Amino acid sequence: MYYNVYNNNRRSYVMLLTTMIIRTLLCKPQEIDAGEFKARDFDKDLIAKHLSEAVQIPTVSMVGEFEGQDKPFHDYHAWLEKTYPLIHKTAEKTVINNYSLVYRFKGKNPTLAPGAFLAHQDVVPAPKEGWDYEPFGGTIDGGFIWGRGTQDMKGTMISILEATEKLLSEGWQPERDVYFCFGHDEEAWTEEGAAHICAWFKQQNIKLEYIIDEGGTIIDGNMIGVDKLFGLIATCEKGNLNMTLTVEKSGGHASNPSKPSAAALLGKALIKLDKHPMPSKWTPATKQTFKLLAPHMKFPIRMVLVNRDILSPLLKFVFKKIPLTNSLISTTFAQTMLHGSDAENVIPPKVTANINTRIITGVSSDEVIAYTQKLLGKDVKVERHGKGTEATAVSPIDVKPWHDLNVAIKQIFPTMVTAPYMFIANSDSRYYGDVCDNIYRFTPFLMTLDDQKRIHAINERVSIDAMEKATQFFAQCLEIMNK
Ligand SMILES: [Zn+2]
Repeated sequence: MYYNVYNNNRRSYVMLLTTMIIRTLLCKPQEIDAGEFKARDFDKDLIAKHLSEAVQIPTVSMVGEFEGQDKPFHDYHAWLEKTYPLIHKTAEKTVINNYSLVYRFKGKNPTLAPGAFLAHQDVVPAPKEGWDYEPFGGTIDGGFIWGRGTQDMKGTMISILEATEKLLSEGWQPERDVYFCFGHDEEAWTEEGAAHICAWFKQQNIKLEYIIDEGGTIIDGNMIGVDKLFGLIATCEKGNLNMTLTVEKSGGHASNPSKPSAAALLGKALIKLDKHPMPSKWTPATKQTFKLLAPHMKFPIRMVLVNRDILSPLLKFVFKKIPLTNSLISTTFAQTMLHGSDAENVIPPKVTANINTRIITGVSSDEVIAYTQKLLGKDVKVERHGKGTEATAVSPIDVKPWHDLNVAIKQIFPTMVTAPYMFIANSDSRYYGDVCDNIYRFTPFLMTLDDQKRIHAINERVSIDAMEKATQFFAQCLEIMNK
């Protein structure tokens, strides 16, 4: 009997292993034909000069009263007009809610749905401490343009504009209408910029064929021994919700405390929440990420990724141990703000904690609140704080805009392998779900991990070479995606 069970088990293990090996051997990379092509020449020093000038106009996100702090935005608009004369001569410009800009380039064929490129004009503040150069100085040194917004995201906006100005000088007119949508509050979450632009599209019943916005990332495959670049294009975004946890108990003087205190109950709740996250899930985008990347990996990573479904419990266990991979399969709960007493000798009658959650696609913010309330029980009140944003829909990858975008990438970055993925942060494009199904977030800057970490931090910079490539890339997008 024992012998038979042992033999049966062994047989099924061998079969499983054989299946996994066959799947690994059969998996083939998706090839993209970039066609005959030569990248345009750009004057990269001029691009650098323009980005430097853009950085010198400190369009820091406005919060509270806009009047009195809006001069940089008006200056920026004037600078755009002066610097890109052909764009301003050709496109129809609409100013939305005083500061956001929409440009429309009329296409030859009115039956085609328009496409749109998004960028935000605003940047996060940059106190001078710790910077090697003035944060709003736009210094060009050592092959880099330095300053706030060089990466996030004036660098992208300038690349798009440089590419367009060049194309227009060649007599370019797209087949479909092309919009540039430049909001002014992406970093501030005030719903004054992109939200209004989107409402403007809705009012006119304009449905967009595609949107390209910031996000995604380029990873150097050499980190895992693969001599390729991996371009991750975000096809969706996680939701973002703040919850307030509140525990109320009678407070009083610190000389005669009663037990358990409100703080102790809240502390217990926080530990419980930390230990019991919501169930992890392979979201549709994450499944696609590994499916498309797997054929380019070396053994044994390839075998593991190809057989993700079979190895799911083991893989989830490993993924959950690493914050970055955990964020791709889990709704995360970050405990960010605690508040109790304002005085050393006063026991607070109420203690609160803010939990910032990032929600995977397919899960709603209501479900997150319900889960948390059920887990923590009646001692802890769980409430939504602020509006937050739901996880977006997942854009398809079997449509023309996805294919065209990949051709443009292949042309400019020949060794790059692309895959869709779930963006763990947020972008302006999250507002556009009602007017567009094909939303792709991709920032085409080749840079080191060290440079990527400078976004929203000190010494933000982008290399002149990366700007040149990004400009060439957008020129190809404008041509290929608008046929
Ligand atoms: Zn940004």
